[in-house]
Amino acid sequence: MFRTLLIANRGEIAVRIIRTARAMSLKTVAVYSDADRDAYHVAVADEAWHIGAAPAGESYLRGEAIIDAALRAGADAIHPGYGFLSENAAFAEACEKAGLVFVGPPAGAIRAMGLKDAAKALMEKAGVPVVPGYHGDNQEAAFLAEMAAKTGYPVLIKAVAGGGGKGMRKVEAPADFAGALAAAQREAMAAFGDGRVLIEKYVSSPRHVEIQVFADGQGHAVALHERDCSLQRRHQKVIEEAPAPGMPSGMRRAMGEAAVAAAKAVGYRGAGTVEFIADSSDGLRSDAFWFMEMNTRLQVEHPVTEAITGLDLVEWQLRVAAGEPLPLTQDQIPLDGHAVEVRLYAEDPQNSFLPSTGRLLRLRAPAHASGVRMDMGVREGDEVSMFYDPMIGKIIAHAPAREQAIGRLRHFLSAMEIAGPKTNLAFLAQVMGHDAFIAGEIDTGFIERHMDALVSRAGPDSGALALAGAVYRTLRGNELRAVQAETAEPHSPWSANDGWVLGGVRSGIAKFSCDGEPVSLELAPESGDSCAIGPDGEVRAVIGGTSLHAACVVRERGFILIHGGAAREFTPADPLDVDVAGDAGGGALKAPMPGKIIQVLAQAGAQVARGAPLIVMEAMKMEQTLLAVADGRIGSVTVVEGEQVGAGQALVLFEIP
Ligand code: ADP
Repeated sequence: MFRTLLIANRGEIAVRIIRTARAMSLKTVAVYSDADRDAYHVAVADEAWHIGAAPAGESYLRGEAIIDAALRAGADAIHPGYGFLSENAAFAEACEKAGLVFVGPPAGAIRAMGLKDAAKALMEKAGVPVVPGYHGDNQEAAFLAEMAAKTGYPVLIKAVAGGGGKGMRKVEAPADFAGALAAAQREAMAAFGDGRVLIEKYVSSPRHVEIQVFADGQGHAVALHERDCSLQRRHQKVIEEAPAPGMPSGMRRAMGEAAVAAAKAVGYRGAGTVEFIADSSDGLRSDAFWFMEMNTRLQVEHPVTEAITGLDLVEWQLRVAAGEPLPLTQDQIPLDGHAVEVRLYAEDPQNSFLPSTGRLLRLRAPAHASGVRMDMGVREGDEVSMFYDPMIGKIIAHAPAREQAIGRLRHFLSAMEIAGPKTNLAFLAQVMGHDAFIAGEIDTGFIERHMDALVSRAGPDSGALALAGAVYRTLRGNELRAVQAETAEPHSPWSANDGWVLGGVRSGIAKFSCDGEPVSLELAPESGDSCAIGPDGEVRAVIGGTSLHAACVVRERGFILIHGGAAREFTPADPLDVDVAGDAGGGALKAPMPGKIIQVLAQAGAQVARGAPLIVMEAMKMEQTLLAVADGRIGSVTVVEGEQVGAGQALVLFEIP
């Protein structure tokens, strides 16, 4: 076995590879760009080497810089992870040339599977079923249109050099073919510098089912069962599971055999994935799956396979790369229970899933969740930068049965606390709670079809607003306590650290904006309501008799409330918008909550109109202007600027008419 392993990647995959390498007593070497000096993968590695500027082209894609770092660090092997250089045959060769082991397949196998057309031709020869269509050299538009007609509409145009769904167009009818072809070619040329395309039958009710294979380069190859990756958005995987729902064992065997044949046909070694498309309009059937492509590397979704087999695929990769034979034969590969994985992204589902960047102000997961694994690429406090894939991490649940695994994941996601960049957390939790998903009624159109149900555009409900009101009051109370602790007033009722219980406020509304929408927070709690915020931002509240657990992050202005898997930012509206009613009946303007008087606008003897600003208070770095609730004449002002006041304390007394 090697002594020192360099990991030519970043984020969750680098962290994950380091974990196994460490367990195998290898020394781990990370590489990092300018943007990643303080990144998680750098912190967990034994040592780390700087390889360039933030853009991937100037760091993680610089093969020579990485090989140079490996040589200087005394590494014997390089694990490329996935993405970046993992399917770069020239890099694999350069490693070997430098005397370093590339933890991956031989360069020849990467090349053979690199282009979709050549790979399909090769697979046809090896007796693997391929999607019907045309994958030859003739790229004339008229000829391709003829091939599309012969294949039968709908068809899919795919870039032969494709990846990540780029250069791909579904065409429903002959009239649309020419336009779609031109668009696919343009996109392929721009993305891959290769405009060539192939034509495929568009499979109906398509399910993406892939087989994990492993070969040892000594003639042995096995299939580690299938993964279903049908839950996609724009041809990109979002949720993966193993085994595939409704997979007959005969079909599993047939697919495994086809995948092993594919691996053997290219002299494969190491971990690979053979991707198939299956027509599920009639359920999964042994005669209705076809080869799409082979990915010659570890996949993002490998943990679901690890969960159901109990194997560590990175350990297998390292052993095979070190020349060891496969540890198990086909019959010995376990298949235990069901696993589901979700990809947690910093992106905004309500805004076309646009990537979202920024510092993770909070990133907490429920403790003691059995059967749940997290592969995170960042920690609380880390920055999600614009330079790389915005994946925060992956969460994988495993249980004896599918519905149980889904339930575990749903619970876990709902209890996660994330604030900072927008994320798809709530979206993922919605999928886990969707009846059709739970029933296994999935295909690649699932997300698009159910988008409205999965992406909630609703603002906070009344429960969330009540909680936000309670949190706001408590934060202001806590702020005052902090001030009082400094000024040593130990006997003040606000020095107690148990939050508020129904106190002096009779009524009041604070105007906020919640994620850009105006909302009003009710500041008068019901009898028995309570709220306490721990030093770590943990919120424990009782509202209307219900105990709630939430979290909050105090911002420069306002706060973020995290509850039930949703993070919502509450920002006070313009201070003058805040309309807090005092106790008008008694002729006094009272403080709606504890705070500090920063400005006294009311003057004794003055006649004021309803809505006139009387007092400006401050707590939690927020200002609130208290307004007159009725026309009247001011009798006296009982506070001065700079004074700390308690909730319900009378500030301005009106003359009783
Ligand atoms: P890429 O390499 O760009 O990711 P793939 O060939 O792997 O492209 O296809 C990506 C996805 O597109 C598949 O997972 C599937 O959802 C869809 N797809 C691909 N080929 C077909 C097909 N022939 N019929 C229906 N859907 C397809």
